[in-house]
Amino acid sequence: MTIQELRTALVSRTTTATSVAEQHYARIAADDGPSGKGINSYLALSRDRALAQAAKIDALAAKGDPLPALAGVPVGIKDVLTMTGSPATASSLILKGYMPPYDATAVTRLEAAGAVLLGKLNCDEFAMGSSNENSAYGPVRNPRALDRVPGGSSGGSAAAVAAGFAVASLGSDTGGSIRQPAAFCGVVGVLPTYGRISRFGLIAFASSLDRVGPFTTNVRDAATMLGVLAGQDAKDATSSDRPVGDYVGALEKPVKGLRIGVPAEYFGEGLNSEIRAAIENALDGLRAAGCEIKKITLPHTKYAIPTYYVVATAEASANLSRFDGVRFGLRADGVKTLSAMFRETRDQGFGAEVKRRILLGTYALSAGYYDAYYLKAQQVRTLLTRDFLAAFAEVDAIVAPITPTPPWKLGEKTADPLQMYLEDIYSVAASLAGICAMSVPCGQTAAGLPIGVQIMGPHFNEETMLRVALSIETAQT
Ligand code: GLN
Repeated sequence: MTIQELRTALVSRTTTATSVAEQHYARIAADDGPSGKGINSYLALSRDRALAQAAKIDALAAKGDPLPALAGVPVGIKDVLTMTGSPATASSLILKGYMPPYDATAVTRLEAAGAVLLGKLNCDEFAMGSSNENSAYGPVRNPRALDRVPGGSSGGSAAAVAAGFAVASLGSDTGGSIRQPAAFCGVVGVLPTYGRISRFGLIAFASSLDRVGPFTTNVRDAATMLGVLAGQDAKDATSSDRPVGDYVGALEKPVKGLRIGVPAEYFGEGLNSEIRAAIENALDGLRAAGCEIKKITLPHTKYAIPTYYVVATAEASANLSRFDGVRFGLRADGVKTLSAMFRETRDQGFGAEVKRRILLGTYALSAGYYDAYYLKAQQVRTLLTRDFLAAFAEVDAIVAPITPTPPWKLGEKTADPLQMYLEDIYSVAASLAGICAMSVPCGQTAAGLPIGVQIMGPHFNEETMLRVALSIETAQT
């Protein structure tokens, strides 16, 4: 069901928010666990909170009162966002049992708009990963191909929407974690401009890159979610005071006359041929809809991965220093000194990938290496941003792949972290530049695996990006 369909059904009283929530919980009970398909997308269910909210919506509908934008919409929340009454683990052992004392602003906004929050969703530990295999609570399976990864780090958020365990979900994207799993699971995922959605209550990985965004089954629902989530927040100094756009309204405007950039650097060696063909097909559709397709160049693209993995790990090493056994979650037993407690807690609580990143990031920030790594990476980040600014002087949106390959088999890439990092080749530049980007389904491989295409837009122009996405989506159906 789409948000729109659910709304119509609630208004005409052919269903209730309570029964929709119950149907979702029944599906989760049947298929998410090991006795069903073993998707493993939910880490915790927030039944009481969800049903109390559903009852409120049903009371409104019974009285014939106007319904808020997301009335009765069942939504799952990535476990890096806080939600009172449910644990917030970030899929890490170090936060096992941690009960957050406040709601993330994104969570507050969804609930204020009538959404029914079903529970917390699995992800890579502290959102570090591209396959959801770095979760302390087990990997997530791709609902479209159960032997394959759902992508990461927001693998649970993508899988839950693809499996019908939620109508929409929240994820976070630091270097691709919304767009890539959306592509792998055949759903829509939006990375809004940095500052567009509050990060308050988002457990930090790399603060200058972290963003919150929605997953949905279709572009119109994504626009609806974005409209609710976007806006300034006094609790996040990096949230923007720019007026929030009319994202749903923007979808009425045809794409005719839009200039679409196709960056040469995103179509090189290593791009899977079926993905290439699907994207060329999407571009043909845009051309047929009256867009002008222009070749562009983003010359610093080849530096995006090394730059990202310096900036992200450096910020992570600083952010994750707060997990020390004193304030949150796990504390090692049987230790005699304070420093042993720090060491043992962090050794027991963090998984291998998180430790690797803390080590890399601490190294990049250390005296003597700071200029060579961190400072250099910040300079290259500026060059990458300038590439996009120059491109957006000539085009209204950019269309490119989001993943070089279709979803791979569980376990296929876990032995080689570098190979896993290289999967982020098409996603991290937009993250570093702070521009908006999204992934929308554009077909499937001969083997039936979902293919997504990335649309990138200028800072704070989500409207144009969404229009292009809608046009691609419409051409599929
Ligand atoms: N795959 C990237 C990483 O592992 C991106 C993760 C993310 O966006 N949170 O860092």
